[in-house]
Amino acid sequence: MNKSKLRELKPGREISTTVRILKEPQHSSFKGKEIVKAKIGDDSSIANLVAWDKQTCRWVFRMGDLIEIERGECPRSHKDAYSPPTINISAHTVVRKKEKQGGFPSIQECMSKRFLAEIPDYSYGVVRGFITQVYKTASYYCVDCKKFTDEMCDCGNFPDPLFRITGVFADGTDTVPLTIISEEAAETLTGEKRGDAKKIDPKIVMDRPHTFLGYRRERFYVEEVME
Ligand SMILES: [Zn+2]
Repeated sequence: MNKSKLRELKPGREISTTVRILKEPQHSSFKGKEIVKAKIGDDSSIANLVAWDKQTCRWVFRMGDLIEIERGECPRSHKDAYSPPTINISAHTVVRKKEKQGGFPSIQECMSKRFLAEIPDYSYGVVRGFITQVYKTASYYCVDCKKFTDEMCDCGNFPDPLFRITGVFADGTDTVPLTIISEEAAETLTGEKRGDAKKIDPKIVMDRPHTFLGYRRERFYVEEVME
């Protein structure tokens, strides 16, 4: 079997690889279907491993486990989207726990910091840097039109503000547009509540360096504030 590194993950292609589970798996549901999801990593990159619906019964893994994936599916729909790096466990994917560690990097080693310039498109990384500009602290998403809009959408709706910070992020090796994609992460970053999204003083996030877990898709999308 031809083994790849996680860094080689490409939308629309299958991947066979060995990875470590970096966080406790999260269970949720979408449109009545169960989903199990966890961050996985090796010494080259980090991605999500996801099992849907019937495949969730095959998920017997926990944080810290080393697992072997054969023919993991990377969704074709992720080619043009702003979707995060993901491997789906499909019906023909083989996935099993590996007992022999063989010197495979630990969770901490997989999560070690990288420079922005070292992170390719469709890859996660842990990066320490500065927010050098803030464009917005609130965004508006129209559920009827299914798109981000101004305070008033073209259709006449006034969507509730989302605590979604956008700006510029730089670490000395690269400078990229930034989006903090979760409201939890925006709250951690600012120490403010989502209801105050419109009133945030941008200076409070620009005065010190931050360590983010995020992925690159033209922008750097931050999922988690580490420090
Ligand atoms: Zn609308």
